[in-house]
Amino acid sequence: MTTNPTRVGADPHLEMIRPVPPPTRRACAECVQLGTPWVHLRQCLTCGQVGCWDSSPMRHARGHAASTGHVVVRSIEPGESWKWCYAHEQFV
Ligand SMILES: [Zn+2]
Ligand SMILES: [Zn+2]
Ligand SMILES: [Zn+2]
Repeated sequence: MTTNPTRVGADPHLEMIRPVPPPTRRACAECVQLGTPWVHLRQCLTCGQVGCWDSSPMRHARGHAASTGHVVVRSIEPGESWKWCYAHEQFV
């Protein structure tokens, strides 16, 4: 028996995923308020909030994960369909 904590496809946080509606706006609401730029957008798969990815200065998606415990997000960039777990720092 081997245990590999980084194995993809068996992340326990996948249980947090809820059927969230598609984002109504392609914008990070917090960046719009602050007037800060964002680069890429991710959507929380637990509550549906849209936040900016780590390549953005404010990293609101990461902040949302840290403050709410909603660690599973998905990319909403065109042509991208991957999910990411902030707790494990891996694709899920
Ligand atoms: Zn995880
Ligand atoms: Zn933002
Ligand atoms: Zn959330």
